[in-house]
Amino acid sequence: MNLFREDPNLAFILKQYLDGELYAWAEQELNEFGERCGTDIDRRAAHTDREGQPRLIKYDKFGDDISEVWVNEGYRQTIAETYNRGIVGYVHKEIPELGRKGGYMYSYAQGYLLSQAEPGFYCPVTLTMATAYLLDQYADEGVKQKFLPHVVSTGETELFEGATFLTERQGGSDVGANEVKALLNGERYKLYGEKYFASNAGMCGVAMVLARRKGAPGGTKGLSLFAVPWRKEDGSVNGLQLRRLKDKLGVRAVPSGEVVFEGADAYLVGDPTKGFYYMMEALNLSRVCNAIASIGIMQRAFLEAKKYAYKRNAFGKRLADFPMVKETLADMAVKQEVEASAIFSIIPLFERVMLKKEQMSTDDVAMNRLLIALLKMETAEQAIHFAHEAIEMHGGNGYIEDFVTPRLLRDAQVLTVWEGTANILGLEVLRLIHKYNVHHAFAKRMREEMKALPEQWRNQKAVIEQGIRQLEGAVAILARESNDIQTFHCKRVARLMTKIYESVIALKDAVIGGERKQIIADIYLRNAWEGKEVDLEMLQVRYFDVLMNEGVQVGT
Ligand SMILES: Cc1cc2nc3c(=O)[nH]c(=O)nc-3n(C[C@H](O)[C@H](O)[C@H](O)COP(=O)(O)OP(=O)(O)OC[C@H]3O[C@@H](n4cnc5c(N)ncnc54)[C@H](O)[C@@H]3O)c2cc1C
Repeated sequence: MNLFREDPNLAFILKQYLDGELYAWAEQELNEFGERCGTDIDRRAAHTDREGQPRLIKYDKFGDDISEVWVNEGYRQTIAETYNRGIVGYVHKEIPELGRKGGYMYSYAQGYLLSQAEPGFYCPVTLTMATAYLLDQYADEGVKQKFLPHVVSTGETELFEGATFLTERQGGSDVGANEVKALLNGERYKLYGEKYFASNAGMCGVAMVLARRKGAPGGTKGLSLFAVPWRKEDGSVNGLQLRRLKDKLGVRAVPSGEVVFEGADAYLVGDPTKGFYYMMEALNLSRVCNAIASIGIMQRAFLEAKKYAYKRNAFGKRLADFPMVKETLADMAVKQEVEASAIFSIIPLFERVMLKKEQMSTDDVAMNRLLIALLKMETAEQAIHFAHEAIEMHGGNGYIEDFVTPRLLRDAQVLTVWEGTANILGLEVLRLIHKYNVHHAFAKRMREEMKALPEQWRNQKAVIEQGIRQLEGAVAILARESNDIQTFHCKRVARLMTKIYESVIALKDAVIGGERKQIIADIYLRNAWEGKEVDLEMLQVRYFDVLMNEGVQVGT
């Protein structure tokens, strides 16, 4: 199976955002990578999840603590194959054949394919992306030169994977409660204390760590950012130990551990009073990764459900011939395509905010944070829902580990937790409304985009306009209420905004994407805004074959 060719929607999206030269190069790369993800990388992922999970080798034969992590051989091959294609590297350095960078759009397209096969391994990649970003943007020249060439390696030098350690035992959402200490020691610092959820521990060459310097205030303002190599130059562990690896429900490919710093050498990155601010920028990057992984799981769940429904018979018919099955599959196709389109649509703004922040307006920065929060929350929840639907489509087989479906559900479940839970994202939306009146800019932008859409869609535009008014009304009412009442409602407000955003995206795609995208927009809007008990039009059944894209593959 070639995961790129199975998904014509990815090519449809990328053609909108990549110019001809970059698209032509990316298409070839993604075609090859999609084949790898649908074959060997997928097989290795199943092995890693079941028999080949990373293991902690705590002590060597002399009883010395070496805190090493063992990973299987296939996993190592997946690391090399993935990074060498520039998933991190070409965000920061030029693609040799083209003499230009690949940017985040290419990286996220690669991540989308990878997470359809191995969401657990996409996690270390995303940590490495965050590490590269922080070093590139904020480290001084010496620290940058020491680590960055390794972090962005595409095979020419030893790869250092990255990591981001924030969470401590007393709190993950409440980062301001962090206690890990940084004590000045000559030109560097030494770290002391414990990080309780540390993904890619033992596998990373360098970790980005939040710690508090002596005399720094409490809360998030007192946190500084440090680059901490896992090993010293002589190869010994850098004043730290990996106490244990977590025994996790899913994403077992990534070793997540508890790390204890016992005087680890640490390099200060950037302004010491801005550690939390830097990490929040990187968190936005990781939230986009999270949404990409989510739409990846959604796509894989859809593909598996569809293939099974075409193959399996019950009561003398294929599953795919039953109207209820058609509805499930059609709704999955519609939701997945619209959400994939929505996520990729925010990447151009995201990239500008990340890399050219001094040129961006406050509205742009707030809009970027808003859209990321909305779509991280929505896609993570949908990934779980899709994995559930795929299991149900397989009946009893869906529950059995011979199929990929149980792993999809186990892996999806973490996506609502890490990089901020739904509650924390709801609070982020509320904060953006309070601080920047982001709902005004959002409503304005949605109305402008609708104005540019043809009259043919006036009924649908009217429905969305009603949604925008509903949003404005809700925010106005809540503005007069207490903090508790506002926080109680913040996720509802976020969900309404997501529906509005995705509806506009669905209509924009319908304008450029022809009849099939028009059907998708129609179904998306009906599902989002109408709750009819009886719908005799049954668009999901009527247009089932078109929606399933049967026989359509990129390049065929
Ligand atoms: C597999 C895995 C890998 C991880 N890897 C890393 C890593 O590499 N680096 C890292 O730093 N962290 C990592 N984490 C930690 C992760 O980011 C945290 O678990 C997450 O941020 C939530 O923090 P917490 O677990 O302390 O939960 P808490 O903060 O205790 O939250 C518990 C519940 O309370 C809710 N809650 C909290 N505050 C509020 C509020 N004000 N209003 C309403 N509800 C609230 C939350 O939404 C959540 O539902 C990882 C976690 C997992 C599961």
